[in-house]
Amino acid sequence: MLDVIRGFVRLTWPRRCAACGEPCADAWFCGTCGPLVAPRDGPRCTLCDAGLPSVGPAHRCGRCLSRPPTFERAWGLFDYAGPVGDAVRRGKYGREVACLRAVARVAAAVVPAALLDTPPDRVVPVPLHPRRLAQRGFSPPLVVAHAVARTLRVPLARRALRRVVDTPEQAGLGDKERRRNVRRAFRAHGVEGVDVLVVDDVLTTGATATAVADALLRAGAARVRVLAAACVDRTP
Ligand SMILES: [Zn+2]
Ligand SMILES: [Zn+2]
Repeated sequence: MLDVIRGFVRLTWPRRCAACGEPCADAWFCGTCGPLVAPRDGPRCTLCDAGLPSVGPAHRCGRCLSRPPTFERAWGLFDYAGPVGDAVRRGKYGREVACLRAVARVAAAVVPAALLDTPPDRVVPVPLHPRRLAQRGFSPPLVVAHAVARTLRVPLARRALRRVVDTPEQAGLGDKERRRNVRRAFRAHGVEGVDVLVVDDVLTTGATATAVADALLRAGAARVRVLAAACVDRTP
């Protein structure tokens, strides 16, 4: 019954800004937040997309130089701050799927040219463990993956990856703990010879991206690239 009422309220009330919650006629973000929704810019690592203080000859961050990732390339499109950060948090922790859809829309609109030029064979969302999915009611990476797959005109393979270990929440953990947490958390199947784009909602240290890439490559994927709607600023 509650869902019916909620659905009715959503239908009859005007749309609200995904970031601040103010009513806004027919946009995903209001007139104040909208202009602040801008993709990341500035020098970045050409492998993991971490911000760099300046563009060096290698264009790679220290972490990638000492331990190159197993994925070919990762992109984090917006800073996990400002309106996009607010919208992701409202979506994930306030369970407002419409906020995540707004983020997915703006992310899909700024998909990197490299992906449009050489699209993957499949878009694969980072899976939630079934227990976490039941708690949250929806999968934030899947919401973003839907929009990205539509833009790239590439099929979504939502069951190619499974999360077999219910890892603790990564927020608040250090780099090493995150890696240890997710190392064996994923299993992939049906990706032999497939060029995969993994999609997540937020990219932080790349620990999840690495674990997912490892699982896909173990299962025979030909190529793994990673795209996240938002990125925690990791400028060293
Ligand atoms: Zn707003
Ligand atoms: Zn890097």
